[in-house]
Amino acid sequence: MDTLFLEYRDPIFGIIIFFAIVFIIAFLNYWWGIFKSKEERYSIERFMKRFEVMADADEYKKLLDEFSISSESLGLLAHSYSKSGEYEKAIGIYLIALKRVRNKDEKQYFLFELGKTYFKAGFLRRSADIFMELLRLYPRHKEALKLLTVIYEQLKEYQRALEVMDSLEELGVEVESEKSFVKALQVLNDNSKTNQKKYEILLDLTKKEPLVGRILFAFAKKEALRLDIDLIDANNILDLLWESDDALIKNSSQTLIKAILAAKNGGEAPQDAPFELEMLTMLKKQNYTKATVGFEYTCTCCKGTFPVHFYRCPSCYTLKNPHISLLLIKNEHEKYYAF
Ligand SMILES: [Zn+2]
Repeated sequence: MDTLFLEYRDPIFGIIIFFAIVFIIAFLNYWWGIFKSKEERYSIERFMKRFEVMADADEYKKLLDEFSISSESLGLLAHSYSKSGEYEKAIGIYLIALKRVRNKDEKQYFLFELGKTYFKAGFLRRSADIFMELLRLYPRHKEALKLLTVIYEQLKEYQRALEVMDSLEELGVEVESEKSFVKALQVLNDNSKTNQKKYEILLDLTKKEPLVGRILFAFAKKEALRLDIDLIDANNILDLLWESDDALIKNSSQTLIKAILAAKNGGEAPQDAPFELEMLTMLKKQNYTKATVGFEYTCTCCKGTFPVHFYRCPSCYTLKNPHISLLLIKNEHEKYYAF
């Protein structure tokens, strides 16, 4: 019995007990970590599952009470939904996140993302309302102001778009091109002006901003008004020129227009004519008529390519003449390229 008592007091025994306790604490800590991460994962999974069938605002409230997912996680989740085009789910999550924001910076972030998602989903009016609320808190938010101009432009509320552009100008943002473009759209939609007056204003705007040239050309063509075609860079209206009557474009001094006329009617293609037009001219000489040209439009900013013309890039919303590429195609396919 004495021997056993002495062994309990042995220093080595104390060291063994100490290491055993350290080991048990480390093991429990490790196990708790695994348990917590699993719990968190299941919690998010359950949350997402609930969201799929969520139908009304009461469900959002239940979620808020039930789950303790951080606003950062909600932001990431909403962002991934928005990126994959599931805007409804993204909007729902941003709305939840907005109810639990802790500071003004978070509120600014979630309001902007919510407005942007409404915009992408096509809810222009709601998006404008969200951005107005954001600008009430942060009047110098340039990105919100820029998107607001696009929204008003799409809603055909041109005067409002111009007012927002004035605010951007005050913040040092260059908006001259945008202003001329919106003024051109405003004039086109103004029923109080005669066609002659519209033509004169569009002509003035074209001299200031080449982007308006295409609007002027389309307007003059539609209303059968005389126009000096060389006021407009042919590269920006290549597709419209291809579809135009020869009489409208025959007096041009631009190489590209001469190349188009040669490709359509035969004759000599000018030097520096685009390859596709030169080929068509040569084929025309051989009486081969099964070839024609199609067009493709590339944003000079984000390099996105689209089959139809745009002034404002559908992907990055940059307002700039796209690069128009010629495509040599079979004549029977021509009907698919409607301009
Ligand atoms: Zn773009």
